[in-house]
Formats: sequence, structure tokens, C-alpha cells
Amino acid sequence: MRLSEFFMPTLKENPSEAQIVSHRYMLRAGMIRQSSAGIYSWLPLGQRVLKKIKQIVRQEQDRAGAQELLMPTIQPAEIWRESGRYDDYGKEMLRITDRHDREMLYGPTNEELITEIIRESVRSYRDLPKMLYHIQWKFRDEVRPRFGIMRGREFLMKDCYSFDLDYAGAKKSYNKMFVAYLRTFQRMGLKAIPMVADSGAIGGDMSHEFMILADTGESEVACHKDLVDLNIELMNLDPQGDHQTVVDSLTGYYAATDEKRDAEIEGTLGNDLAVARGIEVGHIFYFGTKYSEAMNAYVTTEKGEDVPIEMGSYGIGVSRLVGAIIEASHDDNGIIWPESVAPFDVGIINLRAGDDTCDTACEDIYAKLGDAGIDALYDERGERAGVKFADMDLIGLPWQLIVGPRGLKNGVIELKSRATGEREEMTIEAALNKLNSLAA
Ligand code: ATP
Ligand code: MG
Repeated sequence: MRLSEFFMPTLKENPSEAQIVSHRYMLRAGMIRQSSAGIYSWLPLGQRVLKKIKQIVRQEQDRAGAQELLMPTIQPAEIWRESGRYDDYGKEMLRITDRHDREMLYGPTNEELITEIIRESVRSYRDLPKMLYHIQWKFRDEVRPRFGIMRGREFLMKDCYSFDLDYAGAKKSYNKMFVAYLRTFQRMGLKAIPMVADSGAIGGDMSHEFMILADTGESEVACHKDLVDLNIELMNLDPQGDHQTVVDSLTGYYAATDEKRDAEIEGTLGNDLAVARGIEVGHIFYFGTKYSEAMNAYVTTEKGEDVPIEMGSYGIGVSRLVGAIIEASHDDNGIIWPESVAPFDVGIINLRAGDDTCDTACEDIYAKLGDAGIDALYDERGERAGVKFADMDLIGLPWQLIVGPRGLKNGVIELKSRATGEREEMTIEAALNKLNSLAA
């Protein structure tokens, strides 16, 4: 993509409405624009990141054995009356009436809808287990939408639902998702700590929220400090592996969200206690037969008994992740994208657009990167070098190729790493080889 043709309306000034760094940089880099409170358009640069995140989430859900479907955003009120949540949900639910005066709503989550689908088509224990997920927009009329897309009213969520015959099966599904979440967040360069979360009326210990520690997190969380330092990369996160061992080794440490903190345990931890602010990027939840009983989703067992299906739900805040990654990875100059979610792999800065030698070299690099399947953003604008450097740092592509007349005279260009700031002089060929090997 040539920058002069790319729709990336950057802002020079810090927008006054943005209180946290991710919101500020997303607006300044031209990733999003607010439409109304808590509702955003995703401009091309933001949409590229969102797509990368969705793809990682999708791959790991598939690997865990979940199957993708797509449910609508608009749901009928009846199924929510069946589950008993229509009134409970209160003002957070956006209620809509259609032309026939039928009560509809914009889905804040999909337990009811997926249970309706399953009860109509799953009758026998032979049809279980199943895990189904979709990536779809949700609407919650939050009291205080804030921090840009971090707490929006309309937001993109991956929600998965598991269906099992019994508790043992449900626990296996839960563990599969637990490991899938560790893999998902790790691939995005994030350290997400699973913490015991409120399990509502069900009780039990099968509810975890995955938290990114950041000063701008909305809630205060606490855990054993070893969990903060733990290197998840050293664990065996094979989707086909022994999930219980992974789950046990992590949940063996004290780690609690806001509502689940325990002053007594924290007192005994002393210097081993870490208290921090956290951003919730995912939530996995076992709720047994809550919906299947209320909505009459039963299967026949091998012995011929009818039993309600055991269920769990597993959410990831896909759009919130864009902000969470920025909160975890930035500096004073802008965003620092992990390679796996970067909107482009590399930026090419032509320091003297209009100069024959520079233009030819840049065009050559740009074409070769394209051939190699490396996504480049080529800054061929007639702007000053300072403006180009600042913009490229702001949008945070992992690599920059800096091409100027002086270097070219000596047959070299510069390769800069956005994360470390290191610049290395090398021939065009060597730079391309290096980028190729990183992409491989
Ligand atoms: P919160 O406590 O932050 O309001 P929640 O516990 O109600 O969230 P869940 O129902 O568990 O949220 O939804 C699954 C995931 O969706 C959350 O872990 C979070 O990452 C994301 N999410 C929830 N609400 C929002 C929102 N208003 N804006 C963006 N993402 C959200
Ligand atoms: Mg939650």
C-alpha cells in the first residue's frame, strides 16, 4: 500500500477526549473514529489489526475443536423470557420493536440463541460433545462507555459455547478453552493471567477472567507474584496435550479478580503478593444446566434417561484487545505492534521522494516485498523526513526500511526495529533477506 493512497487520517494533536494512551494513539493514528458515545467506525488501519486478531482467535478456537458459525445480532425477546434474563438484563439491553410490534433486542451475548439452536437439533448423547463459536458484534448500553473501544457500547466479541453430557465432559471442554486462551493471548504478545472470577449463582471454581496487567486497567486484581513472572512459553500448550496439568499448574497460584479477592489469603502472602490494575480480555465460565433446564435443552443418555445438557460459555473481547495490546506495548512516540497483529509488516520511508535513485530503489524494494508476501506500507509522500519518521513511529509497524540518497550512494539502506529503536545499515538484498527470514 502506498501511503499517499491509503486512507489514514492521522491527527497531530492529542485529542482532548482521550484519557488513556490506547485511545489517544488509536485516534491519532487514524484507526478509529467515534460515531456516537461508545460506538466506533474502524478505519482501514484499525480494521487491519482487528482482522489479524480475529484470525488468531479463530485459529486457536478451531484448534481446540470448536466450530465456527454465525448468529445474528438481532434476537427475539421470547427466548430471553424463557431463560428469565429479559427483565434481569435491565437498561444495558438495547430493546427494539419491529413493524409488527414484535419485541426484539440487539444481542449483548448469545447463550439463549445458541441453546435454542441446540435444543432443536441435538437429542442424543451421541451428538455430544460440541463446541460452537462465532465472532459477532454485541451491544450493551453501558452506563459509562469510556476509554474508546475498551469499554464500548457496540463491541466485537468471540463467544464460544460448550455442550456436554456430564460434568466430567464439561470440565474437559473448560480446560480446552483455558489452554486455547493461553495460546491465543501469547500469540498476540500478551501476558494474560487467568484469575478466579465470579461464577454467579452456580458457584464452584470454573470461572476465570484473563487479565492484562496495566495501570489503566479498570479493576484492581491480585495474585501471587510468581504468576506475573511466570514464563508461559515454557509450558506445553499443545491443543492435543494434557490440559488438566496446565490448568492445575496455573490455578495453583492465588489469583483473584476484584470480587473474588480474599484478604486472609493475601495477608499470608506478604511480599509474594502482587496487586495491580487489570484489563479483562477474556472470560471462561461453566454454568452447568442453568440455560438447558430453563429452556428445555435435554438429551437422552445411553441408558435412555433424559438429562439437561451441561454448558459453558467462553468470551474474548476482540475489539477490546486492540486497545489492550496498545496499553501493553507502546512508548512516547506511539504504538509498538507485535508482529502477529501489526497492520502492515514493514514501512518503507523514502527520504527523498522525487529523487530518481531513491524512487527507483524504493519501488524495487516495495515490489520485492510484495512478491515475498510481506505487507508493506510505502511512504512516498513529499513530506519532510521528520514528519515521516513521526508518522511511522506513531502507527507502530514492527520494521522500518529507511531509504535515503546518502546511504544509496554507498549501496546501503537502514533497517529499524520499532521495538528496540535499533537501526542497522545493510544492503537492500540483506534487508530483504532478513525480513524474509522473519516472515518465514
Ligand atoms: P466487564 O466486567 O468488563 O463489563 P463482562 O464481564 O460483562 O465485562 P463478559 O460478558 O465476560 O464481559 O464478556 C466477554 C468479554 O467481552 C470480556 O472479557 C471483555 O473482554 C469483552 N467486553 C465486555 N464488555 C465490553 C465492552 N463494553 N466493550 C468492549 N469489550 C467488552
Ligand atoms: Mg466477565
